[in-house]
Amino acid sequence: MSSKLPDSMQAQYLEAYHQPYKLRSVPLPKPSEPHDILIQVDAASYCHTDYVLAEGQMPGLPKSFPHIGCHEFAGTVVSHFQSPSKEASVFEIGARVGVPGRSFHACGNCFECRNERVADPVAKDEVGYSVNCVDAENNGLSKDGGFSEYAVVDARQLAPIPDNMTAVEAAPLMCAGVTIYGALKRCGLKKDDRVGILGAGGGLGHLGLQYSVKMGYRVLGIEAADAPLAVAQGIASNLSPKPLVVDARARKASDVVQELGAQDGKKTRGEMGLDAVIVLPESQAAFDYGMTLLKTHGICVIVSFPEKGFHIDSRDVVFRDIKIIGSLVGSNKVLREMLNFSAEHGVRALSNSYPLAKLNELVEEYHKAKGGKLVVDMSLQS
Ligand SMILES: [Zn+2]
Ligand SMILES: [Zn+2]
Repeated sequence: MSSKLPDSMQAQYLEAYHQPYKLRSVPLPKPSEPHDILIQVDAASYCHTDYVLAEGQMPGLPKSFPHIGCHEFAGTVVSHFQSPSKEASVFEIGARVGVPGRSFHACGNCFECRNERVADPVAKDEVGYSVNCVDAENNGLSKDGGFSEYAVVDARQLAPIPDNMTAVEAAPLMCAGVTIYGALKRCGLKKDDRVGILGAGGGLGHLGLQYSVKMGYRVLGIEAADAPLAVAQGIASNLSPKPLVVDARARKASDVVQELGAQDGKKTRGEMGLDAVIVLPESQAAFDYGMTLLKTHGICVIVSFPEKGFHIDSRDVVFRDIKIIGSLVGSNKVLREMLNFSAEHGVRALSNSYPLAKLNELVEEYHKAKGGKLVVDMSLQS
């Protein structure tokens, strides 16, 4: 450990379900094995899953209280374990890293880590490490995360932050960014294919608009509330070619299909509409709207998980051959690819920043559902 480090740090703790966070001063955590790295947290972004966890809707998580949330954060390496692993040594003191939360202390031995899963380029890492390890901890979910001044992370889960990107820009990409980027990759689309994003003004959606345009697809954004609709329209107006953004309250999906079909010179219903949709809201109406937008043989990627699930009309999967798949995050390889893609193409989250001490105010703002992302910026004083 460096002698310059303080003995204690400020951290926002969740002490029980349904409770606000409490700011506490606690001892600095220490690296306990060769892959461990202590980082000084520079930015920590709030994800919908932080809310779900705090409401007790993830059985068994966190493993214990008090708990530090946040599984999408960014920081600077300040110390290693006394005998660091090869993977940890790569990150020198002062290196800036993004932390996705997933797969802290991956076991290296389970079927996921041994890479025995079906071929899935979005999930696949080198043999010996998987973000889907069945025995791993997850920062911010099972174990402590980023709503604190320092955190211990696993070198194998990290991604180096590109030079032209700040920590506040990188943090929201560590869950929201990689999730929507991975979902888009799972669509398996070709250039100029049509993709729709349900919930296009939300935390994931407004990033998805940017990624999908930069990936060369023709993009439709769908929203059904005023504030996120304005976010989606604002993002769309800065993209080229500009994605079409529709208000699902004002336009029927079947009418949008006719418009797209006319643009493509198609006369048969099965050829009209989108090649893929990504469903982000926890809403049956959004799911149904997305299914209607698809062409025959289209693909529906589900990223949200409403408590009561989604109702599927089996005629869509039987007669129209719609494929419904889910998507979680992406491998460490895809995480790095996403970060470099974001740096290269200028993809950034629209975000508002708060000091660590005002995390509960951030959560209040989150519930106003205005779209974009909310981030704790450690450089801000309360
Ligand atoms: Zn998340
Ligand atoms: Zn494993």
